Amino acid sequence: MEIKYQLVKEKKAKPDPSTLGFGRIFTDHMFMMDYTPDKGWHDARIVPFGPLSIHPACTALHYGSEIFEGLKAYRRADGKVQLFRPTENIRRMNNSAERLCLPQIPEDLALEILLAFVRTEEDWTPSAPGTSLYLRPFMFGNDENLGVHSVHHATFLIIASPVGSYYKEGINPVKIMIEDQDVRAVRGGTGYAKCGGNYAASNRAGARAEEKGYSQVLWLDGVERKYIEEVGAMNVMFKIGGEIVTPMLSGSILPGVTRKSCIEILKKEGYKVSERLLSVDELAAAMKDGTLEEAWGCGTAAVVSPIGELCYKNVKYTVNGGKIGEVTQHLYDTLTGIQWGKIADPFGWTLPVDVD
Ligand SMILES: *Cc1c(COP(=O)(O)O)cnc(C)c1O
Repeated sequence: MEIKYQLVKEKKAKPDPSTLGFGRIFTDHMFMMDYTPDKGWHDARIVPFGPLSIHPACTALHYGSEIFEGLKAYRRADGKVQLFRPTENIRRMNNSAERLCLPQIPEDLALEILLAFVRTEEDWTPSAPGTSLYLRPFMFGNDENLGVHSVHHATFLIIASPVGSYYKEGINPVKIMIEDQDVRAVRGGTGYAKCGGNYAASNRAGARAEEKGYSQVLWLDGVERKYIEEVGAMNVMFKIGGEIVTPMLSGSILPGVTRKSCIEILKKEGYKVSERLLSVDELAAAMKDGTLEEAWGCGTAAVVSPIGELCYKNVKYTVNGGKIGEVTQHLYDTLTGIQWGKIADPFGWTLPVDVD
């Protein structure tokens, strides 16, 4: 597909890398294309970054038909820019699209678009340690009427934001509250899809946890409120009695690329990794008898986020003395090493963006 380029005359000044934060600054351009039943995907274009004009009856605004992805472009020490497992994100986006009755994008086309866009914005990929260019592909239903039906018109965009190091003062273990009232997702629902609605439903519990001094909630399953699912907007892993345990992908859990990568690294190194049901009672017992050795969240933004304290029904448990554990640190070093090209990539996970 031909991509039309309408480039800015004057590029914005690049920000000071120490002030980046997350998702506040955007690059010069954005990618856009439209879908209609008669033309399919069409009008692929890279245009100046700016506001969209949306019909007030737009489907996404009323019925929440929106999906998104999140991945990063990393600048290596040799100056080249690379992506990490982008095809995983593309496949997941198409699974999300299928669930929300949005049109899918052929894998080859999606990758071609992503690469063309990253090449255009390549100079926005910062080089300071821990910084990267966060890429946010997203799609929304864009029918211009209030009828409730599956989506016929859709719009797909990619925007990009240079982001800072997630850990400015070293990796600090976080305090997590186990949520026993609100649920994030149920089997048969949209938990496995990366859609905005899941986040909207999560906000209340997150806000309540924050009020009490916790940074995230640990979600339990939506049916029995018994099994561990995710932590905030990250997947979660535990080391219990030497075994790595992570909730299995039951349909209500988002299949994270970082989760998958952690599992593959650990298995390759000979760890016993179990994807299975893990009840909050089993976890509480492991916290009480001291067999819970480590706990961490994993996702693209933070890579891994060690959990130093868990609170369940007002009882507080400290994990690994509130310090980052050995496996958690090892995963962080390995993943970030591969992503920024500091260590060899034996898995073939990285894809150079190839700018000359
Ligand atoms: C995006 C996301 C994750 C992490 O996925 P990654 O591909 O590792 O970034 C985990 N849980 C939820 C709910 C998410 O939206």
